[in-house]
Amino acid sequence: MIDLDLIKSSKKELPNSDKMPLLFVGHGSPMNAITVNKYSTSWKEVGQQLTPPNAILCISAHWLTNNTSVAMVENPKTIHDFSGFPDELFQQQYPAPGAPDYARYTIKNVQNFAIKGDFEWGLDHGAWSVLQNMYPKANIPVYQMSINYGETIAYHYQLAKKLAFLRRKGVLIVCSGNIVHNLRMIKWREDTGAYDWAIEFDNLVKNSIEQKDDSTLIDLEKISTLVKIAHPTIDHYLPLIYTIGLREKEDELSFFNDDFDMGSISMRSIILK
Ligand code: ZN
Repeated sequence: MIDLDLIKSSKKELPNSDKMPLLFVGHGSPMNAITVNKYSTSWKEVGQQLTPPNAILCISAHWLTNNTSVAMVENPKTIHDFSGFPDELFQQQYPAPGAPDYARYTIKNVQNFAIKGDFEWGLDHGAWSVLQNMYPKANIPVYQMSINYGETIAYHYQLAKKLAFLRRKGVLIVCSGNIVHNLRMIKWREDTGAYDWAIEFDNLVKNSIEQKDDSTLIDLEKISTLVKIAHPTIDHYLPLIYTIGLREKEDELSFFNDDFDMGSISMRSIILK
């Protein structure tokens, strides 16, 4: 889908900005989109506190492909990629414009990685459930980048580093997943607390991030027993790899929403700025 027009039109420069913050958001249940709770309230507050970006790039656990693609649509549709939830959730629309200029610019300026243009994808719930709380006016252009699910952790980490320039082009990068995500072990009673292994893995990630120890988070062989239970599939872990890859040395680190939902989902979220 990458044609000559695309490359030509990407000659357009985008305005420079101060370094934009970088977010990892634990999105959890799709119901957080429409439920007023501590998670959605934090998302609202973060949206109000950050400098409004020119565009948002979302890397979500819910767009997995066999290549790396960026969505180039002018008006991304709201994708209701879940089942068994109330009608109200299916009726939600997040009509933010797309950001095809930023998508082109991304394709053109990321070196040594093949990135495709995509004209089908809209916004999955990893993106819109968070963004409709952060930016309820839906007035900031959003584009998504897919996660190549056939690639290694090292690929995602290195690709993330190539995306760093976007932070000085007014782009807020929102990586949306969960630090612990085991849907099979969900506890449906509210008062039961998190599993020990969930707390242990969440702490391991927290400590590694605080100590800037990326290698522990990349080399999953060494922590394989914990990873297997914290992430039966690693889709929700990979957005964290983009976050640590994008991190810059001088970034100030803070956490929010640092607790668990339903025992086996860490909602811990990260701001780097
Ligand atoms: Zn999810």
